[in-house]
Amino acid sequence: MILVTGGAGYVGSHFVMALLEKGEDVIVFDSLELGHMETIETLKQYGNLKFIKGNLKHLDDIRGVFMSNKDITAVAHFAAYSQVAESVKNPQKYYYNNVYGTLNLLNAMLEFNVKKIVFSSTAATYGEPVYTPIDEKHPQNPINPYGMSKLMIEKIMDDYDKAYGLKSVRLRYFNVAGADSSSRIGEWHEPETHLIPNVLKATSEKTFKMFGTDYDTQDGTCVRDYINIEDLAQAHLNALEYLNNGGKTNYFNLGTKDGNSVKEVFSACENIKGCSIPLEICPRRDGDPATLVADNSKAKDVLNWIPKNDLTYSIKTAYEWEKVLSSN
Ligand code: UDP
Repeated sequence: MILVTGGAGYVGSHFVMALLEKGEDVIVFDSLELGHMETIETLKQYGNLKFIKGNLKHLDDIRGVFMSNKDITAVAHFAAYSQVAESVKNPQKYYYNNVYGTLNLLNAMLEFNVKKIVFSSTAATYGEPVYTPIDEKHPQNPINPYGMSKLMIEKIMDDYDKAYGLKSVRLRYFNVAGADSSSRIGEWHEPETHLIPNVLKATSEKTFKMFGTDYDTQDGTCVRDYINIEDLAQAHLNALEYLNNGGKTNYFNLGTKDGNSVKEVFSACENIKGCSIPLEICPRRDGDPATLVADNSKAKDVLNWIPKNDLTYSIKTAYEWEKVLSSN
């Protein structure tokens, strides 16, 4: 039995779908503050899924999960706040939820002798790139509380391994994109801040705002590495297998090694929608580095992970999902 925290959210739910399709038994623990019960209902159709509503900030909530489910063998931990701008305005919310919440989870794991965890980390732990593409040896100097909260958790996990033998795999995501290939689940944030859904949602009343066209890149807009959500979910399966095979504590970048600019993403969305999308050029958004591209060789070599889906496919699936979301 695998425990998935934050399994009602975007990335967590796609991992749960991948687990269920492999025939794994899953428990999702989610506060539903940002995740959606509709997502859980959908997931339940595809396998053995138990849902427990609770908050990691309450130690008893998470202890209760382990207490009544003695067959949990590993944890995948997605539950977190993840908006950079909000974290700058309200760091207390981020450190309390992300760091303290994770401490409760880790402490409950130790109490019930569960010693394997796959953790949802981020490229934001690297901060402003010193070189590109970014490999795992790149210095980690986060420039916002969100990235710092995730880095603190990575450090805590190292210490918990040394002292208590808790093995972790930290997956540092670059830009996650796309939806389930059958449009059963997808990205569903309220409010939405991410590029692809915002371009796809744009209307003449709510134009797409392009943040910054004066960056030092080939076309002046920021370059990001868009990794497909189903490829990302597969990397988590591989990470779990790695830990089950006795793998040591480790960390990996999850990206494609290819960069695409905001303008390129915008044009690709126009092509897929088959119409022009209302666009407004705006000033830069705070805290956006010009280029973030992953060197993904370590995940390829150690986890045997090969991302299969390109940006066009991610946008197509995101568009199909957007139609489902807007029709409900
Ligand atoms: N972006 C934009 N308009 C939006 C959302 C994002 O121009 O409505 C830009 C953003 O400034 C960044 C890139 O798209 O350069 C990717 O942003 P996103 O929020 O999707 O991911 P992040 O890189 O912040 O993790």
